[in-house]
Amino acid sequence: MPDTIPDTIYDVAIVGGGPGGYTAAFRAAEYGLKVALIEKCDKLGGTCLYVGCIPTKALLFNAEIWDHIQHAAEFGIEGTGTPTLNWAAVQTRKNAVIAKHTKGLDFLVKKHKVTRVQGYARLTGPAVDGVHTVDVTAPGGDVSQLKAKNVILATGSEAKMLPGLVADDRILTNIEILALEQAPKSLVVIGAGAVGVEFGSMFRTFGADVTIIEFLPRMVPVEDEEISKELTRLYKKRGIDVNTSAKVGTVEKTETGVRVTFTDASGKAQVKEAEKVLVAVGRSPLTSDLGVDKTKIELDRGFVKVDGAQETAEQGVFAIGDIVAGLPQLAHVGGMSGMVAVAKITGRKFRPVRKDRIPSCTYCEPQIGSAGLTEAQAKEKGYDVKVGKFPFVGNSKATILGNHDGFVKIVSDAKYGEILGVHIIGPQATELIAEAVAVMELEGTVEEMMFTIHAHPTLAESLLDAYGAVEGMAINA
Ligand SMILES: Cc1cc2nc3c(=O)[nH]c(=O)nc-3n(C[C@H](O)[C@H](O)[C@H](O)COP(=O)(O)OP(=O)(O)OC[C@H]3O[C@@H](n4cnc5c(N)ncnc54)[C@H](O)[C@@H]3O)c2cc1C
Repeated sequence: MPDTIPDTIYDVAIVGGGPGGYTAAFRAAEYGLKVALIEKCDKLGGTCLYVGCIPTKALLFNAEIWDHIQHAAEFGIEGTGTPTLNWAAVQTRKNAVIAKHTKGLDFLVKKHKVTRVQGYARLTGPAVDGVHTVDVTAPGGDVSQLKAKNVILATGSEAKMLPGLVADDRILTNIEILALEQAPKSLVVIGAGAVGVEFGSMFRTFGADVTIIEFLPRMVPVEDEEISKELTRLYKKRGIDVNTSAKVGTVEKTETGVRVTFTDASGKAQVKEAEKVLVAVGRSPLTSDLGVDKTKIELDRGFVKVDGAQETAEQGVFAIGDIVAGLPQLAHVGGMSGMVAVAKITGRKFRPVRKDRIPSCTYCEPQIGSAGLTEAQAKEKGYDVKVGKFPFVGNSKATILGNHDGFVKIVSDAKYGEILGVHIIGPQATELIAEAVAVMELEGTVEEMMFTIHAHPTLAESLLDAYGAVEGMAINA
């Protein structure tokens, strides 16, 4: 692996090789900058590639295939017998998907002529004569210094643990659960955000008894309330034990598994035993040992405060991805915030990352895809809100797929017809939401979208019907 070139002053040094860091590195190289990418691990890809987006979605696709096989006879395909799950093979495929992308990143680093440095980076203080110095501790312990005119921090996050608990083979975070040697037969999930509901969905499909315990009054609490309600209804229909407004008491190991006590919504004490417990209660930014204290950088509960260009209070130091205050922790937010930072560094035009223009996708069954304001948020902001809702039961492609659950909900502004939010729960919701983001980015209106031709038969037609529903004119409902 190439090391730092002595005495080189890089245009930009990027700390962290996850989706935020590597996207910033490649775009900076495309702009012609001299780039160093510092990553403590020997592989690039970060949380997203090893213990986040990619492995979870690979396993969720296995679950989808498993589910299709269970229902094969409905589609006239017989002889599938009683399928069995070869968990080792499932894991092998997941690891192969990861390995392919690790190689892809190695290729791209070379293609873009990015200098890759393995080591743990820390800021040393403000720039001197416009040049920042970063200490890099190599895996063997040797410390070297790297100089750059700009620094982008992209160090990501780690799973939060409940007080007093330590992750092991039964008390799991996203890291341990992705490396299980067997699929658990029973699982308690603490936390009903995206990570919790995805693992709950996956292992339920594979046949596990799944219990979800959520402290807040609803599942996927950042979503529109109607989405939470529909997800809860459908999870219960799938036999998942959903407990909201529930407070975890103790998590103890038993001889064979774990015992979790909690107080349910009615205040009643409950006990649940399972093989494993997944703690999915959020993620903390990795900023405590970065040398931030030696700079003017301001933190908010560990998250880095930035301006619209992702620049911190320390001139020439930028922050992107999961460590940024006020933005959701998503890989595509990391990537886009990196592209914004390097555009600013090169003096180019850019559009700041807007929280209400970020697609949020949860790959549970049914899937959720949403962007923009929820109905409640739009009302809070003072809009005269007009809502349109179209159920997938009226969509012919959904019938073909045999997947009718869910709906598309459009939140619009009654005055100008601007589309303020789109909330989808149902088949391929995570793909369908792309249209909504483009429409909102271009400030599209309900009327414009009602005259935008959508191909037939597609799930996307459900959006056309939902735009129509805002005016009480859905064709298929
Ligand atoms: C189970 C799970 C599923 C997820 N699914 C999705 C999904 O489907 N879609 C989505 O958009 N998001 C998903 N996410 C979130 C996504 O993984 C993160 O938002 C994304 O990885 C953040 O990118 P990042 O570049 O900011 O940080 P990371 O990906 O965490 O990368 C940070 C990198 O910095 C390195 N590093 C840290 N400190 C230093 C240092 N001081 N010096 C050098 N290197 C350092 C780390 O080793 C790491 O490689 C998921 C997360 C989890 C846990």
